[in-house]
Amino acid sequence: MIDLHTHSLLSDGELLPSELIRRAEAIDYKAIAITDHVDPSNIDLVIPRIVIAIKKLKGLISIEAIPGAEITHAPPQIIPELVKEARHLGAKIVVVHGETIIEPVAPGTNRAAIEANADILAHPGIMSTEDLLFAKEKGVALEITSRKGHSLSNGYVAKEAMRFGVPLCINTDAHSPSELITREMAIRILLASGIEENRIDSIFENSKALIEKALRRD
Ligand SMILES: [Zn+2]
Ligand SMILES: [Zn+2]
Repeated sequence: MIDLHTHSLLSDGELLPSELIRRAEAIDYKAIAITDHVDPSNIDLVIPRIVIAIKKLKGLISIEAIPGAEITHAPPQIIPELVKEARHLGAKIVVVHGETIIEPVAPGTNRAAIEANADILAHPGIMSTEDLLFAKEKGVALEITSRKGHSLSNGYVAKEAMRFGVPLCINTDAHSPSELITREMAIRILLASGIEENRIDSIFENSKALIEKALRRD
């Protein structure tokens, strides 16, 4: 499994980055990104802590651990500067908390995330055709999620991404170790979202491509 959206106790997750990474390693994950929630209040505190935790693990673990961040409920107007700041602070995977149908995420957040070249637009909800085409043009990956609640719109996101050729990836948005999933479970979630079996491999390939791009950001 490659999982590019997870939370440690540096935001609202349960575990330290080291334990979350170890838990993932123990269930044969190939890669994990730690992408804690950030906004202007904590971006400069959280990202360097993730970066240092992962730096210390270098060469000692059998899993690719990647520092990241999830820009969460920031006004769309400041999303571009936060994406830049996150990268400057060492986040190699930048996720934006998209317009999920279960929270009052500010309209325009999806658009701002795409415009800002975030790596992943998480749980984007009911995306407009305009935004879908824009995500395709920019190569921003849309997320299929195993997380309860946000996953209510997986079917719509999968159908529309396939229709317009927007890259998809699958992540857990895990906040606790029990929310990490196996590759088999990821396949079931993708199938249940309406994705045809012959498209599944390409979705895992998209996650690999995101990692390669992330690691080139050294
Ligand atoms: Zn959270
Ligand atoms: Zn989120």
